[in-house]
Amino acid sequence: MKSSIEILKDLIAIESWDTTKTNKDIVDYICNLLSETEIKFQRIASPVDSSKESIIAIYGANELKNIQGGLLLSGHIDTVPANKDQWKTDPFTPTETDNKLYGRGAIDMKQSIASYIAIIPKLKEINPSFPIIITFTYDEETAALSIEEICNFMRDNNIKPSYALLGEPTNFKAGVASKGYFGYTTNIVGKATHSSKPSNGINAIYITSHIIAKIEELNEKYCNDGTTLNTGVINGGKACNIVPDNCTLEWEIRSFSNEDVATITKEMNDFFALMESKYNGAKISTFTRDKLPIFAKNETSSIAVATRDLLQNDDMIFQGGTEAGFLQELGAETLICGAGDLALAHTSAEYIDIPDMAKYDAYVEALIKTLA
Ligand SMILES: [Zn+2]
Repeated sequence: MKSSIEILKDLIAIESWDTTKTNKDIVDYICNLLSETEIKFQRIASPVDSSKESIIAIYGANELKNIQGGLLLSGHIDTVPANKDQWKTDPFTPTETDNKLYGRGAIDMKQSIASYIAIIPKLKEINPSFPIIITFTYDEETAALSIEEICNFMRDNNIKPSYALLGEPTNFKAGVASKGYFGYTTNIVGKATHSSKPSNGINAIYITSHIIAKIEELNEKYCNDGTTLNTGVINGGKACNIVPDNCTLEWEIRSFSNEDVATITKEMNDFFALMESKYNGAKISTFTRDKLPIFAKNETSSIAVATRDLLQNDDMIFQGGTEAGFLQELGAETLICGAGDLALAHTSAEYIDIPDMAKYDAYVEALIKTLA
């Protein structure tokens, strides 16, 4: 087996940002490495995108089913794109300078993937008392469907890990919570008519303007709790001389509180009903476009306590959206911990300090020994 840093370099060189292309190259690469070991693994074809696959691998079990307990190591193999003009180095040619390794995915999050693969041959000697499950998801940076597919696979096959580690970059801090993300699309249907007689129609853009004002009002009401709302996209109308019969709005809630999300969703639904009664004949419908469940704060979990002890570091709240909420919903004590500074992720100067690779390898090994 190659070392984690060698695997990281290979992974950086395999582009995995393009959502329109198959991810076969990176999946093949990982599966070839897994084949060198005793780990059992399976490629899981996406039910919604035939060009994409995720992978689940399990050490310490004869079959990929009926597993109670164990540690899940979870990572996404996709990255965000890289604008080559903004990079000083080629983002897909791993480049070493001053003990740093530059490249897209260096910390978000091919570094953790590399460590999770590199530890497999050592598991025989570590001899953990429970199974080690490793999952590789393909679309964390976009729709996050893959993690749901993996979690469904685990539910369907009665796989219930006790702990889950998600290797997003936290600079070796114990990431004990992350915000949920709820993206909605609301479609407002009115009635078109000539603009010289607006009272004969129902102006979908007017209705939308009230909804936008409501979203702004709720943002101000809840933002002190750390819950935010935003309107990001609006589309409607055809011409100035037509009362518009259609308008579409994309908006979102980000929160640490399921209670806030439930209250806001209810307030919005009540407001839609109010608008439908005020603008008689209008139809307002909303669907959930994207969802990342909240990773609710759990700083007293065994995995958080062990991580703080091993790394002699603080807790942190992960501000971005992550897949951690899905793993917590699965019933696993979940933690986010990885090498590198989140501020460098998605930038044109993404790098990992090379010594951090060995540090993360040692942390993962020590975590298995502590928990198992
Ligand atoms: Zn990430």
